[in-house]
Amino acid sequence: MSVNQQAHTGPPYGQPQPGYQGYQQPAYGGPSLPGVPQSQYGAYNGPMPGYQQPVPPQGSLRAPPTSGAPPPASGASHPSGHLAYSQFEHGDVQNGIPASAAPMQRPPASQPFLPGSAPTPVSQISTFQQYGPPPASVQQLRNHMAGMTIGSTAASAPPPAGLGYVSGSFSATGSGLHTPYSASQGAPPATVSEGLPLTQPPFPGHTVSTQRLPTQVPGFTPPPPSTGVGPSSYPPTTAAPRPPAMPGPPLPGQTVAGPPSSQPNHVSSPPPSTMAGLHPGPPMSGLHGPPPPTHPPQPGYPMQQNGSFGQMRGPQPNYGGAYPGAPNYGSPPGPPPPPKRLDPDSIPSPIQVIEDDRNNRGSEPFVTGVRGQVPPLVTTNFLVKDQGNASPRYIRCTSYNIPCTSDMAKQSQVPLAAVIKPLATLPPEETLPYLVDHGESGPVRCNRCKAYMCPFMQFIEGGRRFQCCFCSCVTEVPPHYFQHLDHTGKRVDFYDRPELSLGSYEFLATVDYCKNNKFPSPPAFIFMIDVSYNAVKSGLVRLICEELKSLLDYLPREGNMEESAIRVGFVTYNKVLHFYNVKSSLAQPQMMVVSDVADMFVPLLDGFLVNVNESRTVIASLLDQIPEMFADTRETETVFAPVIQAGLEALKAAECAGKLFIFHTSLPIAEAPGKLKNRDDRKLINTDKEKTLFQPQTSFYNNLAKDCVAQGCCVDLFLFPNQYLDVATLGVVPYQTGGSIYKYAYFQLETDQYRFLNDLRRDVQKEVGFDAVMRVRTSTGIRATDFFGAFYMSNTTDVEMAGLDCDKTITVEFKHDDKLSEDSGALLQCALLYTSCAGQRRLRIHNLSLNCCTQLADLYRNCETDTLINYLAKYAYRGVLSSPVKTVRDSLINQCAQILACYRKNCASPSSAGQLILPECMKLLPVYLNCVLKSDVLQPGPEVTTDDRAYIRQLVTSMDVAETNVFFYPRLLPLTKADVDSDSLPAAIRNSEERLSKGDIYLLENGLNVFVWVGVSVQQSLIQNLFGVSSFSQISNALSTLPVLENPFSKKVRSIVDMLQGQRSRYMKLIIVKQEDKLEMLFKHFLVEDKSLSGGASYVDFLCHMHKEIRQLLS
Ligand SMILES: [Zn+2]
Repeated sequence: MSVNQQAHTGPPYGQPQPGYQGYQQPAYGGPSLPGVPQSQYGAYNGPMPGYQQPVPPQGSLRAPPTSGAPPPASGASHPSGHLAYSQFEHGDVQNGIPASAAPMQRPPASQPFLPGSAPTPVSQISTFQQYGPPPASVQQLRNHMAGMTIGSTAASAPPPAGLGYVSGSFSATGSGLHTPYSASQGAPPATVSEGLPLTQPPFPGHTVSTQRLPTQVPGFTPPPPSTGVGPSSYPPTTAAPRPPAMPGPPLPGQTVAGPPSSQPNHVSSPPPSTMAGLHPGPPMSGLHGPPPPTHPPQPGYPMQQNGSFGQMRGPQPNYGGAYPGAPNYGSPPGPPPPPKRLDPDSIPSPIQVIEDDRNNRGSEPFVTGVRGQVPPLVTTNFLVKDQGNASPRYIRCTSYNIPCTSDMAKQSQVPLAAVIKPLATLPPEETLPYLVDHGESGPVRCNRCKAYMCPFMQFIEGGRRFQCCFCSCVTEVPPHYFQHLDHTGKRVDFYDRPELSLGSYEFLATVDYCKNNKFPSPPAFIFMIDVSYNAVKSGLVRLICEELKSLLDYLPREGNMEESAIRVGFVTYNKVLHFYNVKSSLAQPQMMVVSDVADMFVPLLDGFLVNVNESRTVIASLLDQIPEMFADTRETETVFAPVIQAGLEALKAAECAGKLFIFHTSLPIAEAPGKLKNRDDRKLINTDKEKTLFQPQTSFYNNLAKDCVAQGCCVDLFLFPNQYLDVATLGVVPYQTGGSIYKYAYFQLETDQYRFLNDLRRDVQKEVGFDAVMRVRTSTGIRATDFFGAFYMSNTTDVEMAGLDCDKTITVEFKHDDKLSEDSGALLQCALLYTSCAGQRRLRIHNLSLNCCTQLADLYRNCETDTLINYLAKYAYRGVLSSPVKTVRDSLINQCAQILACYRKNCASPSSAGQLILPECMKLLPVYLNCVLKSDVLQPGPEVTTDDRAYIRQLVTSMDVAETNVFFYPRLLPLTKADVDSDSLPAAIRNSEERLSKGDIYLLENGLNVFVWVGVSVQQSLIQNLFGVSSFSQISNALSTLPVLENPFSKKVRSIVDMLQGQRSRYMKLIIVKQEDKLEMLFKHFLVEDKSLSGGASYVDFLCHMHKEIRQLLS
């Protein structure tokens, strides 16, 4: 039959990026489904029609360089900026990073990327214009920000309303060249709003601005682009009109329904007990009295040694009052004063921190030329310019300034870890790593440690040798790679070679890097569909088959190749397996049944894995027939392990790597290897045996996973359970092969198909590498000691993944094995060897240089709390496999208390013990840590199933920092405050019930779910506009999408939901929640600043608890 080949010619769907070596951005969108706006994935980095991405030309694969002679004009053509070799604070890095942006500018798409060709800033204008000229180097401010103290008078800057999520555009199709950047990094740069009303007038005389820097002001005018890190060499962005500022809608502050908590209570006297009613937490007794209003400012701020602090911040009187809400932990018993409560507005606010970072750092590109620079937060939308260090989209660290000695590291207890996303998707404005081809000799490497050539290698003896920046070994430069040095000791071809001047690049691997010394074949995708009773009855089988007919035309493609090199195969199964011969010469597909599942084999070789175009009609016929063939099935039992084995054997026979897409519905209880029993037992929660709920019930799958990894067989698992199916066990193979798991509990065609199909489309199309091995090399003094993520390790250094896609991260922990020096810093090099979707063997290299310190204050000033939380969550989530959950929780609390106590003891100025003092960079550590502690894995509520917990545990382990950030602290937006006339998002508010008004509608998203919460007193007209019904009671919470209504509010809300969907790697489930409805319990679970039903502490209470822990450590 003829497949609907015409269905997807529309640009948003899978249009390959012209000319890129294999990395077409996975443009997402998919065929328009009824009710699903085409725009749903518009924001996902996809190429937009009309958008000219400045990519290298076709065939940018560079020829092996000729040896010796410098390329013509290579020196002369560089913009003058590169002579100012001042970016490095440590000038001894000889082949370091160029000083300014200009030399690194790659040619625009219209020009071939040839050695020596002069970079011309042509088409880049469009890429940067929305950012405007970079302002003063606010980036550096962050490094200089120092400890903050919390006290009744300290951290209570009035919540500035209105800033925050200001989006570039919601248009899925883009608007000409002004393609909005709305990729996974969150909203576009916030523009500054002006003159917004504040519900909380600044307290008289209260000039404290705990976090905010005076550089962000209303009516922000970008300073001349001559300051900061090399912006002068930018394309003439000033010429490009900056889009009109999009002030956030006027937000009446963080309007709080209920008690009058918005009174100016963050003052010397603690608020009266009105707050107490909100949280029936422990009585707040024995408080330390509020500090005298004249509490002296922290003298000197010892951690601000470089002096720039004072220039950048206003005076901070009263900065550091006593901590008013601390209960009397550790205090001598005495007659308790009347209960008082810590004002939630006076404790560090995630919303405020996110907003400040956006304002301070979102407007200028993050240039990676400077060692040890802390990047903007993941919630800030910023552009990255690679000048010798890997983009934070590829690597983020817990700290960018690491202690010189292990003693210091131990003292601080700050984990040293990097969260690495080697194949991260970049926004269209940024350049993908260049592919370098050194011909048959392959990449140049250090003789001893085998590190790859990188910007930090030092050339000596006139360029004949180089000294390794990792192990100091001196290696001869191969003749074909020789180049003369200029008077500064830099190779004259410095700017022509990505591996000498950029933080991230790729090498084409030689046959030496291939399994069995043989270049790999293109990978294969095998679709394996459960056709047991439940799968057929729910309509799932038909849905999958229908979808595959069109989706197969969008398999990943290499660069400008016309068709994908990936071959496909099909299997269906229940208790037995059915293989299909879809050879192009057949008139009809042929089925072969294998009922001996105990010893799986593949009954056919020729005709199982085929090219989609060649076998198009046979495949279409098969996909038409499958739902009919099993329409009357009565078979309810399934096997599982034999399915994976079948896929594995098929790939083995075809001598290729590949991916299995398994669609599975039930616990595999049929007689077969890997058969499972129902062992769910919620009574184990909070016992020493709870860990067994997370462990696989048999080691069979571990062994199978090992075999899969050896073959490069990655497994993606789509689960549709109606009851327990043991995710902890079924997930072992996907997890260890670098695959993904998706779960659609109680799958219903009507409500869940969009979500499933969107996930499937994205999963099939996304960039993925196969047969991957990652190794992280470090300079002398530290080494990688521990790894977290979805992979397999057969030794202590190599992370093996059958498949690695653009969403997966690997978290690496480092430990000292020697002293580090402040001068040389520390270096990381992550090398990922993988097979591309066209079967090309490649190495992707990411380099990152960090600072080293002898003062603890420097460590604390350069930490990244979001990354720290990502690491701590993964650490804890692994811990539950072997330790009681309570032990894991306690050790998390203890570690964080130690981190903060060490700061208090060594970095903060002396102050009364009643004060809680947090480092500026870590002031959100308590609130975020509390969210991790309250998460379903570590403290499940009654509604959370064992499978949910196992699922979440595995998901989080591969998450990047942006994903863990929103997962643990969801984004809460007041939809009724959205400005329907602008592209902006309403300003986010804190996740607490007391911030909700019953007259408003809110959206909450955490990367897996989107809730729309409707207050009981919402105006009828709003309800009509959004839901198309006339009253609150008529709103159906069975809706899985918002109705498409032609009015501005409906359009605005749907565009917000679509945009958020586009930012996430999975399609989020939409849940409508009415206030005071049953489902509200589920929603409240995500209001993470409140006390949770499962016993999780409120933020305020937890902060008090942390304070107690810290004081105990200090005393
Ligand atoms: Zn070396």
